[in-house]
Amino acid sequence: MPTTEQLLRAPKVLLHDHLDGGLRPTTVIELAAESGYRGLPTTDPEELGRWFASDTPRRDLVRYLEGFAHTVGVMQSKDALARVAMECVTDLAADGVVYAEVRFAPELHTEGGLELDAVVEAVLSGFESGAAAAAAAGRPIVIRALLTAMRTAARSREIAELAVAHRDSGVCGFDVAGAEAGYPPTRHLDAFQLIQRENFHATLHAGEAFGLPSIWEALQWCNAERLGHGVRIVDDIEVAPDGSVRLGRLASYVRDRRVPLEMCPTSNVHTGAARSLAEHPIELLRRLRFRVTLNTDNRLMSGVSMTSEMQGLCDTFGWGFSDLEWLTLNAMKSAFYPFDERLAMINSVIKPRYAELSAEALRTSVQS
Ligand SMILES: [Zn+2]
Repeated sequence: MPTTEQLLRAPKVLLHDHLDGGLRPTTVIELAAESGYRGLPTTDPEELGRWFASDTPRRDLVRYLEGFAHTVGVMQSKDALARVAMECVTDLAADGVVYAEVRFAPELHTEGGLELDAVVEAVLSGFESGAAAAAAAGRPIVIRALLTAMRTAARSREIAELAVAHRDSGVCGFDVAGAEAGYPPTRHLDAFQLIQRENFHATLHAGEAFGLPSIWEALQWCNAERLGHGVRIVDDIEVAPDGSVRLGRLASYVRDRRVPLEMCPTSNVHTGAARSLAEHPIELLRRLRFRVTLNTDNRLMSGVSMTSEMQGLCDTFGWGFSDLEWLTLNAMKSAFYPFDERLAMINSVIKPRYAELSAEALRTSVQS
């Protein structure tokens, strides 16, 4: 079993992490004081951290989203956005992440009068300084942004255009997120068609709070290359009492086409998409060799890091470095990052470092 210290050192690839879901509690408090934001439940950093990551099961996506009113509330100026973005990169690098795609919804950050372009530029500048600081600290990380449109709003076409406009300065794709039931992906069809016409990339939150029709629309109408969560694909998989498995047509398509699933186990438990980690479909989907990736979703709201998510899988399913390397390679193969650079990352960073860790774990187990 890998130790926590070894897990921290393991190289990680993160494809699904929300910028407004990963702030440091102290930063929320300081930004609130600076901007005159008054809505916080407490100004004590520890209490606030506990409030966000409260383990009172919310089991409901709509209630889970409540915490975002506060984080988004303090991210309404260029300086605040750049600071949050910079700290995000620093925190991910310290967690052993070597490549990350972090998403945010520009339309949620215009209440202070910022234009959409200014929002994106502020975040990208924060990413750049965070990456420079991480490299200087000996923890190089590649960071890219995904622009999210809110599925309950009507600005997706504009956000898709915005993503394309910033594609050469750090934006690698487009996403749609927010309350799923009642807001099918096809409401945003023109945005996805624009992404497709521009030879650009799209992922889509689907199959989290709502089931197969949402996944089907995401893939077959919106041409999403990856599924945000996608956990409900298990509704199309039958496991008989004797252990034999039958995949429906949609599940077969997802597996055959190697559609990446951006799975976020702890977040799924918090929103009620899975009852517990032990019952999370990630174990079955790994066994069936779907293209599973491991992600944090909202580090602050779920009280997680990539290291703690890995630890959870090792503790719950007895996974080891070979499983974690598999997840990491899956994620790197699925990144919206040029093919040659993905290969370089796989061959010169991920594989050698997992080989080292596995050898080290073997030595420790022989000695003990
Ligand atoms: Zn998400």
